[in-house]
Amino acid sequence: MKSKPQTARPPYSTGEIAEIIRAEKHGPPDADPEIIYLLTDSRQVRFAGQSLFFAISGPQHDGHAFLEEAYRKGVRVFVISRLPENWEGADAIFLKVYDTLAALQQLSRHHRAEFGIPVIGITGSNGKTTVKEWLFQILQESYRIVRSPRSYNSQVGVPLSVWGMRDFHELGIFEAGISQPGEMQKLAAILNPTIGILTNIGSAHDAGFSSREQKLREKLQLFRNVEVLIYQSGLEELDRVIAQSGLRTFTWSTHQDADLYIREIDWNPGDTRITAHFRGETLHLRIPFSDAAAVQNAIHCLATGLYLGLPPEQLAGRIGQLSPIAMRLELQDGRDGCTLINDSYNSDLQSLAIALDYAQQQRGESQLSLILSDILQSGTGPKQLYRSVAELLHQYRVDRLIGVGEKIHLIDDYLQPAIKRNFFKSTGGLLAELDQLAFRNETILIKGARPFAFETIALRLLPYTHRTLLEINLSAIAHNIRTFNAFLNPDTRMMGMVKAAAYGSGSAEVARLLSFQGIEYLGVAYVDEGVELRKAGITLPIMVLNPEPVTFSSLSEYDLEPEVYSLAQVQALAQYTRTRGSVIRIHLKVDTGMRRLGFMPTDLDELIRLLQEHPQIPLASVFSHLAASEDEGEDAFTRDQAMRFNDFYERLCAALDYCPLRHLLNSAGIARFPQYQMDMVRLGIGMYGLEVCGELQGRLRPSFRLSSRISQIRPVLAGETIGYGRRGRAEKDRKIATVSIGYADGLLRRAGNGRYSFRLHGKLAPTVGNICMDMCMIDVTHIPDAREGDEVLVFGEELPIERLAAVYETIPYEVLTGISGRVKRVYIME
Ligand SMILES: *Cc1c(COP(=O)(O)O)cnc(C)c1O
Repeated sequence: MKSKPQTARPPYSTGEIAEIIRAEKHGPPDADPEIIYLLTDSRQVRFAGQSLFFAISGPQHDGHAFLEEAYRKGVRVFVISRLPENWEGADAIFLKVYDTLAALQQLSRHHRAEFGIPVIGITGSNGKTTVKEWLFQILQESYRIVRSPRSYNSQVGVPLSVWGMRDFHELGIFEAGISQPGEMQKLAAILNPTIGILTNIGSAHDAGFSSREQKLREKLQLFRNVEVLIYQSGLEELDRVIAQSGLRTFTWSTHQDADLYIREIDWNPGDTRITAHFRGETLHLRIPFSDAAAVQNAIHCLATGLYLGLPPEQLAGRIGQLSPIAMRLELQDGRDGCTLINDSYNSDLQSLAIALDYAQQQRGESQLSLILSDILQSGTGPKQLYRSVAELLHQYRVDRLIGVGEKIHLIDDYLQPAIKRNFFKSTGGLLAELDQLAFRNETILIKGARPFAFETIALRLLPYTHRTLLEINLSAIAHNIRTFNAFLNPDTRMMGMVKAAAYGSGSAEVARLLSFQGIEYLGVAYVDEGVELRKAGITLPIMVLNPEPVTFSSLSEYDLEPEVYSLAQVQALAQYTRTRGSVIRIHLKVDTGMRRLGFMPTDLDELIRLLQEHPQIPLASVFSHLAASEDEGEDAFTRDQAMRFNDFYERLCAALDYCPLRHLLNSAGIARFPQYQMDMVRLGIGMYGLEVCGELQGRLRPSFRLSSRISQIRPVLAGETIGYGRRGRAEKDRKIATVSIGYADGLLRRAGNGRYSFRLHGKLAPTVGNICMDMCMIDVTHIPDAREGDEVLVFGEELPIERLAAVYETIPYEVLTGISGRVKRVYIME
């Protein structure tokens, strides 16, 4: 084994790097700056003087186009494959190579080879990042770990990740992802893992491969030198290919012959219990999640910990504490001209560096304040740890530190005097003094480990008008779509219904997400909604449910496809397109029992005649809508609708010389009648994890959360009344909180006078008196912890929207679309 270098590396000198990547050096002959940072993106220049910029070319862009920008930001050393023109005499050094990406990979391969530590390499179709982050969570108290930032797992991301290795690290955890044959070999040479984890093998990225087996063999390339491969056995194809590879394995499965035998899984919401056998011992553990993917990921981590020899009880304890992965950074406008970046889920050195990096990108010219909790990470002594934190603060030019916790004051000795600082023992202590800290026109990064509950700080720093928030969890929506997708036949298409501003959530944001989730069509109610999506850059085909003749010109201009439901409409469109010589693809709605809009069988002959005469209005699809797909009592009617629809479609198709797409099902229909999925389904409310029935129950995640905050708390004496009309009456002395949400936000008066309760501090607080226009009052007498500024949950995961819908005597659809436009939408990406 190589001896470890005496000093932490990097820095490398430019000359050394030129040698490692066999580059031709151009520029001032005696300049040889030291390099610490590697860059491939000119937007991310931070420490220009010590950075090396690789001009990498992809199919979309050529890195050479960004040399000037990087130069302007102070970078002076570049790896390029073509010397730029007109740079003679500039004080820049160019390292010329044939292939800049290969040079980056070569450099990181060299760097990796300097370290003899164990390295865990993770690949698979899903779960790579989660397994990596969770392994970090459970192993960080046992090892000093270097890991891939975020999901840096590509041909560029892996070299950049490996570059983070330093001589104090004891374990590396990196992920590798590929989309084409030939790529894994390169990643394997860079990572050279000693322990392999294969998370699973699904259909993602199938396109680049000729078969699943080819893809699998390619993935296994990563593991060619590992001492062990950890994976879930029991899939016949996987077991066979792995056996042929001759790799040593450590398996887990629900079959007894695995190294780790999972005997029983007891699924409960947010709390899955597992009984396992390992080397003759029985293990009991709980996983604080209840979706199948999370449980699979957690068991990978358990297996890895057992393989590494950690005591089972200790592992079980740490797995019970796993928290959702920490790539959730929320950016929003705060009070008094501040910008808030909220990352209140974990704190360790590496995620702090990532968050600081992001804050640095967003801060512009403004001051940067950091609210930071104790760093929950051991392995290094606390002094060493806080010295490293101080270095990060200097690097990212933090202007002010607000530390919270028992240990964080240790940083005081290492901070440069110019950095302002305040320390608090607890989050409560900080909240009590928050107003004195006078945040103005600055960027505030809020970064704390979960137990510190820093989300309360973020809420206090929001502007008053934004005290009521509708959070839309885009990751949950993506999860739900994947769940529906897995439930449907592989070749069934999906139309995402984003009418009414995507059920109140904001169309463009959701539509953008959908276009990344394999959705092939969008459905909107009106032409205006479609136009808005086009203006936001959405390129998916869009069906418009209610086109009006006055909007026909927008249809062509914005490439929107109308639904047609009457002969008169077909005639009008035929006329319009013929006179203009244009083509408009249409979607034909059939009435099979809803009695709302649509063609009847009696229209068929005339319809066929019109379509034959007007090939410039081709049918994109034919569809119908179920009237009671969620209702078991109406299943005979639903089946009857499907039969009528098929009948209509077949008669139409027989007369045309092409067959358009055929679709019938909405969300509840998908869950309950998969046999009618046909060519496409139309997914609406199910996307948000609502109104779920049938087999999909329990597998979807709710994705809406409406919350507000307490603006004031006051005692009310027995006999006094509360609010308009004196409808609330205090029988005894009470503590009443005023909350910043009223009927103008969409909280109906029906929710007043105790008919609905909000949730705070884990308890329910009923409304008191009438709901006002902009606020309402709740009784918090029984909640001693309630404070002004506290968040109050109106609905969300712990208080399902269905409860509010029941009070309104309506359905969740109406609750959602009734939330007014002034309620700020916040999009969460995990
Ligand atoms: C809204 C709508 C849907 C989606 O319905 P969900 O119950 O929300 O899934 C499907 N098809 C049509 C025609 C719709 O108008």
